[in-house]
Amino acid sequence: MDLSRRDCVITGGGPAGLTAAIYLSRYHLSVTVFDDGTSRAATIPISHNHAGFPEGIGGSELLERMRVQALTYGGEIVNERVNAWARRGDDFFVSFGDHTLPAKTVLIATGVINRPA
Ligand SMILES: Cc1cc2nc3c(=O)[nH]c(=O)nc-3n(C[C@H](O)[C@H](O)[C@H](O)COP(=O)(O)OP(=O)(O)OC[C@H]3O[C@@H](n4cnc5c(N)ncnc54)[C@H](O)[C@@H]3O)c2cc1C
Repeated sequence: MDLSRRDCVITGGGPAGLTAAIYLSRYHLSVTVFDDGTSRAATIPISHNHAGFPEGIGGSELLERMRVQALTYGGEIVNERVNAWARRGDDFFVSFGDHTLPAKTVLIATGVINRPA
């Protein structure tokens, strides 16, 4: 994998992270999305409130369509877990596996976990 500095490194390839990736890559920014494959959206049988899909759409299909759209505009998707983020000077450093990827900006879209009240 090319480890040159990205304009933005996104952690999380659910609907939030992929939406950001589509917009940023559409504006010709270099974008890498890291995703370890546990999006809650993948558990949705059929969503009936997503704009543009009046007949509904399954969560897995929605994620796949969004991944294709991000890739179409030059985004990169890496199926790996991010272990750490660090900032040194003006840059961020995103660690995964044995590697570190520098980035001008980072966006964290790692979703939520329900907690009993
Ligand atoms: C059963 C069910 C049905 C639902 N139905 C609907 C519905 O009909 N309509 C609706 O609008 N919403 C629905 N939701 C809610 C919807 O799933 C969430 O709002 C949506 O998935 C949130 O998107 P997100 O991108 O913020 O987070 P997520 O979809 O959770 O994505 C977060 C991503 O970050 C990744 N990640 C986390 N940490 C790391 C890390 N360190 N490194 C790499 N990757 C990481 C995870 O693998 C995951 O893919 C439903 C949820 C459930 C559980």
